[in-house]
Amino acid sequence: MGNASYIGRFAPSPSGPLHFGSLVAALASYLDARNHDGLWLLRIEDLDPPRESSMAPKEIMTQLHACGLEWDQEVTYQSARIDVYERYLENLAEQNVLYPCVCARKKIPSVYSGTCRDRTYSSTEKPYAIRFRINNPLVQFNDIFVGEASYDTTREIGDFIVKRKDELFAYQLAVIVDDCEQKVNHVIRGNDLLSSTPRQILIAAQLSLPVPRYGHLPLVVDRNGNKLSKQTHAAPIDTSSPLSTLRHALRVLGQDTQDHATNTKQLLSNASRKWKRSLVPNNNHVHGN
Ligand code: GLU
Repeated sequence: MGNASYIGRFAPSPSGPLHFGSLVAALASYLDARNHDGLWLLRIEDLDPPRESSMAPKEIMTQLHACGLEWDQEVTYQSARIDVYERYLENLAEQNVLYPCVCARKKIPSVYSGTCRDRTYSSTEKPYAIRFRINNPLVQFNDIFVGEASYDTTREIGDFIVKRKDELFAYQLAVIVDDCEQKVNHVIRGNDLLSSTPRQILIAAQLSLPVPRYGHLPLVVDRNGNKLSKQTHAAPIDTSSPLSTLRHALRVLGQDTQDHATNTKQLLSNASRKWKRSLVPNNNHVHGN
């Protein structure tokens, strides 16, 4: 372990304990990192207090421990890094790619049309959100699981928010700044975040930061086809029988379920060695049950 040429991470938002969908992302990012003899970091993305539970970071770490998913280095907390995001925001402001936006969120269609593009800070009263102005719309990347992805971001996404009206930093800015500052070069996560990726790549490019390699996993859905989440009342993972929970996750990821393993350590070390990206189902979603 400890080949710094591969750095991966798991970056949960502490809105509650891990459910099966987030465990699948944790496990896949762990196995991909270990298979490449890389580091696997844990970052708690606690930038949105209204959506968080104060117990969640501890619960998440206890769950990861129970499953034998041991991370490298100290856990980072986004809430402790506001100054860093502020610095990068200033850098973007100096490059003149940001503008204040007072549009009411509810009234905005899913692709923002740029109503506030010509607004200046001096003529705009708070509260306002800050948007990133897209100048180079074509974004392409080669996803480990999805393959070639290409976006015309002006048409498909539109100028997007980097700091919210309530003055909280948007996930898009914080996540790419942290991935780059932590030298994360492999991001394995659920494909609900696939369309966030072009935004993160645009920010990285503007800041001249290196773009990680991305791999978006099929999303785990419930019987009704809904993403497992706090909103759909997904249950916390069962850590009383971590071996069967891990096997279930391996099955969903198309991997051998390591039926001979007698403890999590053994299961994870065998599964890391045997991990094959090509076996991960390449459909949009997989059923968790
Ligand atoms: N914090 C995000 C979430 O829990 C994931 C961030 C990421 O993996 O890029 O949905």
